[in-house]
Amino acid sequence: MTRPYYLTTAIDYANGDPHLGHALEKVGADVIARWHRLQGRPVRFLMGMDEHGQKVFQSAQAAGMAPQVWVDGISARFETTWRGLHCSHNDWMRTTAPRHATGVRALLERIRERSPDDLFDGEYEGLYCVGCEEFKQESQLVDGRCPEHPTRDLVATRERNTFFRLSAYRDRVLALLEENREFTVEPVTRRNEMLAVLREGLQDISISRSRLPWGIPFPGTDDETVYVWFDALINYLSATGYPADGWDEIWPADLHVVGKGITRFHCIIWPAMLMAADLPLPKGVWAHGYVQWGGAKVSKSEGAAVSLDGAVERHGPDALRYFLMREVGFSNDGDFSFERFDAVYESELANGLGNLASRALAMIEKYRGGVVPAGGEGESLEAAGERALMAYAVSMDGTDLKGAAEAIVALVTEANGYITVAAPWALAKANDDARLDAVLAALARALVRLAVLAAPLMPAKAAALWTALGQQGTPDAGWERAQAPAIAGARVVKPENLFPRE
Ligand SMILES: [Zn+2]
Repeated sequence: MTRPYYLTTAIDYANGDPHLGHALEKVGADVIARWHRLQGRPVRFLMGMDEHGQKVFQSAQAAGMAPQVWVDGISARFETTWRGLHCSHNDWMRTTAPRHATGVRALLERIRERSPDDLFDGEYEGLYCVGCEEFKQESQLVDGRCPEHPTRDLVATRERNTFFRLSAYRDRVLALLEENREFTVEPVTRRNEMLAVLREGLQDISISRSRLPWGIPFPGTDDETVYVWFDALINYLSATGYPADGWDEIWPADLHVVGKGITRFHCIIWPAMLMAADLPLPKGVWAHGYVQWGGAKVSKSEGAAVSLDGAVERHGPDALRYFLMREVGFSNDGDFSFERFDAVYESELANGLGNLASRALAMIEKYRGGVVPAGGEGESLEAAGERALMAYAVSMDGTDLKGAAEAIVALVTEANGYITVAAPWALAKANDDARLDAVLAALARALVRLAVLAAPLMPAKAAALWTALGQQGTPDAGWERAQAPAIAGARVVKPENLFPRE
């Protein structure tokens, strides 16, 4: 059996509604998952919810609900939203699930067994950000406040906790990140940030909370629960079934996709936890930037205005997926605005891909009764298609999802220009059947390629185009078809308007 590509997203905190910032991460990871499937590789794609912690407990109390009822509602809302955006995850982890608690207990017991000195009792006194669910060190504060949650007051907290000896792993994690081979942190700006943190040195961290009942009981203690972040990180492992048989057929993860604000947990604490347990490390972390709205981070907790539902309704889920990857991107911060969304939709989807498909298919219908003629391999458009495939694959392999979208745009532009120059209507008028066959065939071949290339970004629209090209099923595993787009003899049908204008 081929080992699956194991991909995860961050699990979202069960507090508030899904927003565009969450959507960027889920869609980007879904595009990566679909890229691997496109090449025929099985993918295990995990998403889920982070359901413990003080903030969830407080929100449930404020709503007059039992915490489990509260998180059940939020989990359903998030997952429905991601399915509506065509996310193709095949596991949904909730940290309140019994299988997760089993994994957390097993990992802690294993750390205690393999590295007994690394768990110890201590007293913690410090400033706690309820927004981050994290104790903050002085060096992490800006003007005495959490930079991620500048509107929240930090809470001075003092309690007896269990600690994890993170400081003992500083040298090993530093060497790991300096080498950047077995465990990669990308993009490079994020890796450099983590290297700077490591070079400053690490402090041991509290990994339990006293008197917070909403959490997983900490093994070997009476009144402590596992600190929400320590608990949450373990979801990537517990989702493999750990410690039950078969977990190591899935673990280690190939890629953790997370936001740039939580790299310290994923690039430093998580590898150290696994080292302490003597378990294999994930192969990499990809830390994307934030969606900006008018120059500020889109995040519900800071009261931003843009609604995810409104963005989905604007031009449908596929168009939003496309716009997030094409315009916001998956590396740095990027701006979202409806003006820009409308402009890109109009120029690249409605006038670009949509118009190309409808013109080409209408001409095959009109001049060849809807049957794709043979030939086309010698046309200039064929070379453009091959270039697009190459650029797309290089971009996807480098998690340059914006670059992958650009490769699609480039081929659409070539194909629309090719129609203008080849002028099939003039060839028909002149009864130049051989040339007309070649041109129509080349266009059909380009559309096969575009359906395949578009599949990870716009799965529903790509499937509609695939059907219009007279193909069975979906283009979802069609990378080979894109390389050799045999389509002569297919009976095309006029597609529904792929990208209608309002
Ligand atoms: Zn914070």
